[in-house]
This record gives sequence, structure tokens and C-alpha cells, in this order.
Amino acid sequence: MKRKQIPPKTAAKVMFISDRTCCVCRKPGKPCQIHHIDGDPNNNKINNLCVLCLDCHTETQISGGFHRKLSAEQIILYRDDWHIIVAKKRASNEKMEIKEKSPDLFFKEIITEIDILKDRKEYDLIGLYYDMLGNNDLRDKYIELAIKSGIDDVTHIFLRYKQGKPDSIPNNVVKRTIKLQTKNEEWSQLARTYVQLGRFQEAIKCYCKSILENLENDNIFSSAFYIKELSKEKLYLPLFEQEYSKCIKNNDLWRQIRCLEELGWYGEIKELLLKNKKIIESSDDLLLKRTLYTHLEDEKNLLKIAKIIAECIITEKDGSVDLKRK
Ligand SMILES: [Zn+2]
Repeated sequence: MKRKQIPPKTAAKVMFISDRTCCVCRKPGKPCQIHHIDGDPNNNKINNLCVLCLDCHTETQISGGFHRKLSAEQIILYRDDWHIIVAKKRASNEKMEIKEKSPDLFFKEIITEIDILKDRKEYDLIGLYYDMLGNNDLRDKYIELAIKSGIDDVTHIFLRYKQGKPDSIPNNVVKRTIKLQTKNEEWSQLARTYVQLGRFQEAIKCYCKSILENLENDNIFSSAFYIKELSKEKLYLPLFEQEYSKCIKNNDLWRQIRCLEELGWYGEIKELLLKNKKIIESSDDLLLKRTLYTHLEDEKNLLKIAKIIAECIITEKDGSVDLKRK
């Protein structure tokens, strides 16, 4: 059977989103090739392609012995994780480092690549390149062009997310993506979609679903992988923020402070405590008083309260600890 060549446009895209680097070992500068994950050289769908160095490619071909065979499932995990790292790297400090080390080369290289991409009308990639250069106006211009000229739904959502404009994604794109990923039971992909849409509770549910499913099927590697990704996303932060807003409405001062502590917003805690200082001091809430004096670094009053608390601590018969005022 004649082997179909990977369309150059697709190959360029795969190389770009992997930063021309093997998605498994991630060693920069090694010669790489595009690998068909399902083993079918005619399946040139972008979902089936990844960049591997020759060593890692060998790992996919052999099994047993001292060599560890890389399964398709593992490669997909490595690849998707690597793509996120590359995108984030491009968007953050590391690219600035390159820029600082050899700015001329950095700009020349990018400008050259942008010229080629312009000829090929690869607007989504040009948008991402301008994002890399920190030029948000041109990033937005090309993202608009990309969307106008038609792109797949997942890329559409990703580009709007990069712009910080998840609200401007059309409803039907969101609906279609969620429906398809739900139908295919791609819980971890759906979790990422929800993260990009800013729908954090649903994202957490999908991550948990994927982790649970993998654990139940004895896919330890995958469950560990998504637990790690979930922790890295720090999705507890928007939940604490949500709870914080609720506590403001309910006027629950203690819980407001607890939320702010978990969020690490210490300036806000101090402000809130100062605003309520009189109320706290005239109440008999020992723990709130201790929090007040701790954050205000009022040593004298803090030690006074600590003494009162120590005197009040009572261990109940059932082992629970309580504060009883004499
Ligand atoms: Zn490699």
C-alpha cells in the first residue's frame, strides 16, 4: 500500500505545537520525526500525530527485555502534557529569557517564521506567535482572522482562552465541543475545555471522573498524571473566591477570613480585621481575637488571648476539644 504523506500544513502545525521537541524525553536539539500514534501511517489526523526523537520512537517499537515499550495511551498523555507546557512556556517567562539572551536572533527567527506562515494563511499560528512576542494587538488581529476563516472548535476555544476572552466564544461552539467530548467520554479533555471556559466546578468534576475511571481500570499512570494536572491547575483558588463572595453576602466574618487565608490574600485580611476591630474586641470570640492580634502583630494582646485560650481548653469525654469560658 502506498503511504500517504503527512500534509505539510499538518506537519508544520505538529512541529510548532511541540516546539520541534520530542514530547516524551523533551531533550532540546535532538533530531525528531512525526510519529503515528495508532501505528497507521495513513491516519494523518492531527490527534494521531506526535513528535518523537529517534530513541523514544524505538521505545514504541519494542517490548519486553530491558526496554520499556511506550504504549499509545502513554504517548498521548506525554504529548498533551507537552503541548500545554510549550504553550505556557511561550506565553510566559521562559520566552522572555530567550529574548533577553539573544533578542536579535529571537525576533529574526520569529519574524521569518511569521512571514512564511502569512504566505500559508496560518492565522491561528501567527496569532500564537504574536502572543509569544507579547504583541496583543497583532495577536488579536490574527486570532480574529483565524476564526473568520474557519477553525476547529477546540482551537477556537483555546485561542479565546489565550486572549482571556472566553465569553466571546459562540454558544454553539461551546455546546458542540462539550457534547462531543461527553459523548466520547473524554473526561480529561472535557476538564481542560471547562478550565479554558472558566467553568471551574465542572472542570473539577471531570478531572475527578477521569481520575476515578482510570483508578478503577488499573491505569495507575493515567490517574497519577491527571491528579498532578489537577493540582497544577490550582482549581481550589476559584472555589475559595466563590465561597468568599458568599460569606460577604452572609456577613460571616470568620469564614471570610478563613477563605482569605487560604487564598493568601493577607493585605485584604488585615484590612478586613481593621475595619471590624471594634466589633471583634467587644465580642467574646477568642479565636477571632487571636486572629486579629496575630495579623496586626499585636504581641501584648496576642499573649493575653493565648493565656485565656489555654485556660479554657477542655477535653471532653469523647475526646473532642472545646473552649469553655469560666
Ligand atoms: Zn525522546
